[in-house]
Parts: sequence; structure tokens; C-alpha cells
Amino acid sequence: MITRTPIAVHCEEVEPEAPVSDTPLGDWQRQLRDVIRDPAALCRHLGLDVEWSSGARRGHDLFPVRVPLAYLSRIRRGDPNDPLLRQVLPLGAEGDAVRGFVDDPLEERDHTPKPGLIHKYPGRALLIASPTCAINCRYCFRRHFPYADNAPSMREWERTLDYLREDDSIREAILSGGDPLASPDRRLAALVERLEAIPHLKRLRIHTRLPVVIPDRVDDALLEWLGSTRLQKVMVLHINHAQEIDEAVVAACARLKAAGVTLLNQSVLLRGINDDVDTLAALSERLFEAGILPYYLHVLDPVSGAAHFDVPDDEARDLVDALRQRLAGFLMPRLVREVPGERSKTPL
Ligand code: SF4
Repeated sequence: MITRTPIAVHCEEVEPEAPVSDTPLGDWQRQLRDVIRDPAALCRHLGLDVEWSSGARRGHDLFPVRVPLAYLSRIRRGDPNDPLLRQVLPLGAEGDAVRGFVDDPLEERDHTPKPGLIHKYPGRALLIASPTCAINCRYCFRRHFPYADNAPSMREWERTLDYLREDDSIREAILSGGDPLASPDRRLAALVERLEAIPHLKRLRIHTRLPVVIPDRVDDALLEWLGSTRLQKVMVLHINHAQEIDEAVVAACARLKAAGVTLLNQSVLLRGINDDVDTLAALSERLFEAGILPYYLHVLDPVSGAAHFDVPDDEARDLVDALRQRLAGFLMPRLVREVPGERSKTPL
């Protein structure tokens, strides 16, 4: 049995603000704009004490709070240990230096041949299609990424895309970020139009958390450009806990599948959030119900500020062995680590 570490901030039940469910959310762009950006506001919305320890503010100053209201509505009120809250709530421990935890754990800055392009693995290249996210996950391995140096204009994209045009071993373009779907559809459609004009490209992969945290992002405009490209479409979602998948997420996934998108999920194994067999089994079951295949379970990338989420390798292997006793093979995610310099993910 894994012991859950209690959250290290002072949060007692107080009178909540108006329930989020009573507030009209508006379209996805408005929801993206109207995210919660302050730890005290986050606490107030959830009926938690706003008498913050200096630690919460310290973590927020290093990597700001960002929580969409649609995601907030799935967090249990009055529970400081809620597994969704823990993904977005800053802790003072984020400011502690921990040996082995660094700003660029995957050494991506060494694999950026053009602004906005990361080429680490053979056959595929990753485009930083948006410098922002809808949500700021406290364990994010790109929490220190220099997005300002990797946000090409549409004109600069042309030079970056030349890299793809000139390398016919690249079969797959991966849109990442930030969250690529935080970009407007017009910009994404223009980018994908250029990608599909490169004859050797076969697949378009999109790494995104937006259909999960703001399901309204999956609207007609998105489905129009996504559904009409000649490229095979794969969307890799990022969901760590079954509680993140509400009916709005299920409906968004159904629309994506109807547009010909293959849906996969990658999770991160996180201390205090999903580090027990029951939670991981429930996640796989719920993913499959929503039409999403469990793909990867990543051990934490050692990014500075996230050491308190770490689960040791031996414990991770034991968890996955126990999970295998519970689930059909197609519900089993692959336990992997990303090792800088390796040509693929490394199975544990
Ligand atoms: S959505 Fe993805 S890229 Fe954005 S903060 Fe979360 S983990 Fe990082």
C-alpha cells in the first residue's frame, strides 16, 4: 500500500465562492482567457482557506498557476488532497534544489536545429506550435523551456519547415508546445496545409491536454481542418487520473474519433496522484470507455521544482507488475523513461 503524502499547504474549509457549474463558460477562447491565475483564487473557488503559506506563493512565482474553469469543476471541493488539485496547486517545495533535478532534464536545447523545432528521434520531428498551455501542470518537464526563443512567426515557420522538406526520412510531424491546440484554428490550419504539402510526411501527431481541460476546444472549426487533412491523424492526450474524464471529455473524444483521429493517452506516474494500482486500473478502464488507448506511463522527468512527485523505479515496476495482474493487455500502458541522447523511449 502506498502512503499518500499530505499536501504541504494550509487549506481549511471556508465558505466557497459561487459554484463553477453555475457560471457560463463561454467558447473555448474565452475559457482559455478566463483561467484561474492565482493560488488564493484557486483556494477560494474550492472552499479552501486562502491563508496561504508563503510556500504556495513561492511555487507560483516560479511557475504560475493556470487552471481552466472546466477543469476546476472536476476538483472535489474542500479537499486539499484531491488528485486533480495536486496537479495544479503550487507547493513551497518547488523552490528547493534537489540533486539530479534540473531545468532541462531531456536536454532538448541540444536538439533544436531551428527555432520551434525539436528533432530527437529518427523518423519524426516535433514542432513547438504554441508557447502556452491552458493549464500549468506542476510536474511539467518543460516548465523552464525557453518558449520566447521558440515561437516563430508564420514567416519564420517557412524556414523551420524547410528542415522537414529537406529530410525525407521524417515521416511524422508532431505538434507540441506548450499546447498546440492553444493556437487559433486559422494558424493551425495554415501550418497543417504546409505540412501536408511535404510529400514524404505521412502522419500528423498532436500532443495536447486541451480536449481534457477545456473539452469545448473540440469544436466545428477544429474538426474542419483536422478532418480534412490527407495526413493520418493521431492525438496523444495527457490524462493522469480517471476523475479528469467527465462526460464533456467523453463527448469531445467521440467527435475526434468520428473525424478519423486515433486517440492515445500518456500519463505521468505521480506521487500522491496516481501511484497506486486501484487508481491506475481505474484510469485505464475509464480511458478505454472514452475511446482512448492507454499508451505510455512515464516516470517523472527530473525537472527542477517537481521532485516531490517522484516515484522510484523499483516502486514503479512493482506497480505496473501488479497492474498487469488486473488488466487485459490492451489496457496496459508501457512504463517508460525518456533518456537524453537515446533514440527512443526507454522501457523500464
Ligand atoms: S499541458 Fe503539457 S506542456 Fe502544458 S504544462 Fe501541462 S504537461 Fe506541460
